[in-house]
Amino acid sequence: MSEQVSYQDGALHVERVPFARIAEEVGTPVYVYSASGMTARYRALEAALEGLPVSIYYAIKANSNLAVIKLFAGLGAGMDVVSGGELARSLRAGVPGSKVVFAGVGKTAEEMAFAIDSGIHQFNVESEPELRLLNEVAASKGVVAPAAIRVNPDVDAKTHAKITTGRKENKFGIDIARATEMFELAATLKNVSLRSMSVHIGSQLMDVAPYRAAYERLRGATLSLRQAGHVVDHLDLGGGIGVSYDGSTPPDIADYAEIVKDTVADLDCRLSIEPGRYLVGNEGYFLTRVLFVKHGAERRFVIVDGAMNDLIRPTLYEAHHEIVTVEESPAGEEAGLVDIVGPICESGDYLARGRKFGAVAEGSLVVLKSAGAYGAVMSSNYNSRPLCPEVLVEGDSFRVVRRRQSFDEMLALEEGLS
Ligand SMILES: *Cc1c(COP(=O)(O)O)cnc(C)c1O
Repeated sequence: MSEQVSYQDGALHVERVPFARIAEEVGTPVYVYSASGMTARYRALEAALEGLPVSIYYAIKANSNLAVIKLFAGLGAGMDVVSGGELARSLRAGVPGSKVVFAGVGKTAEEMAFAIDSGIHQFNVESEPELRLLNEVAASKGVVAPAAIRVNPDVDAKTHAKITTGRKENKFGIDIARATEMFELAATLKNVSLRSMSVHIGSQLMDVAPYRAAYERLRGATLSLRQAGHVVDHLDLGGGIGVSYDGSTPPDIADYAEIVKDTVADLDCRLSIEPGRYLVGNEGYFLTRVLFVKHGAERRFVIVDGAMNDLIRPTLYEAHHEIVTVEESPAGEEAGLVDIVGPICESGDYLARGRKFGAVAEGSLVVLKSAGAYGAVMSSNYNSRPLCPEVLVEGDSFRVVRRRQSFDEMLALEEGLS
């Protein structure tokens, strides 16, 4: 995958737009996305899966900006949503309900009703009580809701503890050994149609081997269900393909496609996958400005105007983001260890710690790479910092796809009530 950022005449550009121009026009901190990068990712995945009966559902929780949803919808993707809010976003972006799959362990009756009214493609059900509730809600509307059960294959995805989801001890899915029991139950429920299973074993998988283990179990479950007389005509293979944050080699999607081919492609099932991070992770950047450089007793602190409320991944997942200066640093410059921190009153408010970094001037701009997934979507108003803007770059132009929140907008939900 070609990098969408490069120095041109000493200034860092994304596609053909200088980051400095975005900072000047939109201010900092700001998220910057590359439309060409996201498009190239989608096309690469599509090409790797060519010839297999696989549909791509973009897991919008990775980056649910309306412009990003529209971009992938325009390329032909359906959407994987995990809340009523995400369904509302998909619909607002013009995606028909029929191209939406609804996942998640805690859907409410209201969310189910909204999704049924929107005519969604499928509910990925994660427990027996959820299946019963879905049946009730569908009955109240006089319809039959299309469902899959999310099975938990008890496979270790070998990723960060907070984003592994396919082990027995995780809250996700239904023990795969209970699949038959669930299909038998569904057969007694008049308002759900269960003909599908889904798996999602975790996020940021850097090795594809766990997919093989999970899909082999899915295959086994499909065959035994069929033997017991149940119809299984669709399998949802989940997301989780990792991206490189530090220059390490990411999984090869050709290897992933090979696993799909080897394990489930011959089952005469429609297949779908739900990538999130893979499509957007490396295609977003977090642009922030240096406020102060402070020489502490032990190390140098670079205090920037972006913080953990904007980008929580470093403190939540010990995530690493490459950081580069917008102005090209002179070669051979002496580097020292620095902490790059935000203005928030928490010691966990850092974007990087103990990082080798050259001299940076106060007022200069730095970019955190690979901030396209689980970045802006996880931002909050902590410390009453307004949500930062998001910008989409296309070639030599860019547009603001989320405005910076104003103080008035931030306070509007409380005003007049106290
Ligand atoms: C989060 C999630 C995804 C996407 O995960 P990525 O690691 O971003 O690819 C897909 N499916 C389900 C059910 C999810 O919860």
